[in-house]
Amino acid sequence: MSFPYEAPVSQSLFDRASAVTPGGVNSPVRAFRAVGGTPRFMVSGTGPYLTDADGREYVDLVCSWGPMILGHAHPEVIAAVQEAVARGTSFGTPGAGEVELAEEIVARIEPVEQVRLVSSGTEATMSAIRLARGFTGRPKVIKFAGCYHGHVDALLAAAGSGVATLGLPDTPGVTGAQAGDTIVLPYNDFEAVRAAFAAHPGEIACVITEAAPGNMGVVPPLPGFNQGLKDLCAADGALYISDEVMTGFRVSKAGWYGIDGVRPDLMTFGKVMGGGFPAAAFGGRADVMAHLAPAGPVYQAGTLSGNPIATAAGVAQLRLLDDAAYEKVDAVSAEVRGLVTAALAKEGVAHRVQTAGNMFTVFFTDAEVTDYEAAKAQESFRFTAFFHSMLEQGVYLPPSAFESWFVSTAHDTAAVERIAAALPAAARAAAGATA
Ligand code: PLP
Repeated sequence: MSFPYEAPVSQSLFDRASAVTPGGVNSPVRAFRAVGGTPRFMVSGTGPYLTDADGREYVDLVCSWGPMILGHAHPEVIAAVQEAVARGTSFGTPGAGEVELAEEIVARIEPVEQVRLVSSGTEATMSAIRLARGFTGRPKVIKFAGCYHGHVDALLAAAGSGVATLGLPDTPGVTGAQAGDTIVLPYNDFEAVRAAFAAHPGEIACVITEAAPGNMGVVPPLPGFNQGLKDLCAADGALYISDEVMTGFRVSKAGWYGIDGVRPDLMTFGKVMGGGFPAAAFGGRADVMAHLAPAGPVYQAGTLSGNPIATAAGVAQLRLLDDAAYEKVDAVSAEVRGLVTAALAKEGVAHRVQTAGNMFTVFFTDAEVTDYEAAKAQESFRFTAFFHSMLEQGVYLPPSAFESWFVSTAHDTAAVERIAAALPAAARAAAGATA
């Protein structure tokens, strides 16, 4: 596909970046490889808008992949950060900000009795799995194909299919030994989980699942699936780990737990809780968390864990996220979904909008998407045409058909109108696209 519109400053930055950074980016999906064209180098963000290095403004439907739920540069978050940064940037000691952030998390999410702060979602899931193994004394981990839990070696195993398949390394650099204790199962396939527990009695440390997956596009759990996982874990003595790095503090005050009420043993968080800074966490049952150093023997640490700037941003953001804020995000999400559906339907484009609270994905297929295989079966070439038309018209979508779209409290009528104005041409582009 050709790209008639140009982004010369972004292109020259990308050329320079490619000389000094593998693929020109510091996180692969940013490189636009799935959709082609020049990745946009952003220089600023305000409310629902991003401005790129060529001076073009976009309505942002990525929101930094979730964190910016109040929009960019929210004045109260920025003020909290400025106040914190003026006092120094890192002390390597305990500080009041991390207590406040931990208290905020514990107050919102009832199953979290204790929480440990880290700097990325990857660290959170890695540490939660180590803790689960240390607590249970068991080696194996069940994860689901299409769920992403960060780039933890053992959790990059995602290629297995069928019942109780032992995960093989999905990327060079992950050894069979690192992935060999990972059992990869199809998402939403409860019988496969039951069979895996039957095949490995007393060996499974934990099941880790995205609370409501957003990393194969949004594919919510079928009714009863999460509860079934929890029950199987409880019966076997394994831990149920709900990864809420994406859904946590985004889909409700208490994340996906606030929607489905299934009580995990451990949970992981990131994104929204850091207010745009590197802050993440894992937490849960106090008796399990007590096994963590220095209270217990399972080691875990971090030079910048609980960083004062990150915790100040996180506390400020969470305190602004009251019921009214979630009502606003839910309402904007519903409005944008409705507009997209109407535009695509008008052009006769097969599509399906799937939601997990206010997170959503537009799949280019008629069929319900309940697992990764179904997600991959969509006509993603139509997404590519749709994406580039929206980009050209100043709407920034995730550069992949397998991602959630995100909105914020800052997406006001003017921003939604810009999206609405761009949709007819994008829907026509999708309709006319060829594989
Ligand atoms: N878990 C989930 C559900 C995620 O969506 C992500 C990142 O997108 C991670 C873990 C990893 O988080 P991070 O990118 O902060 O390492």
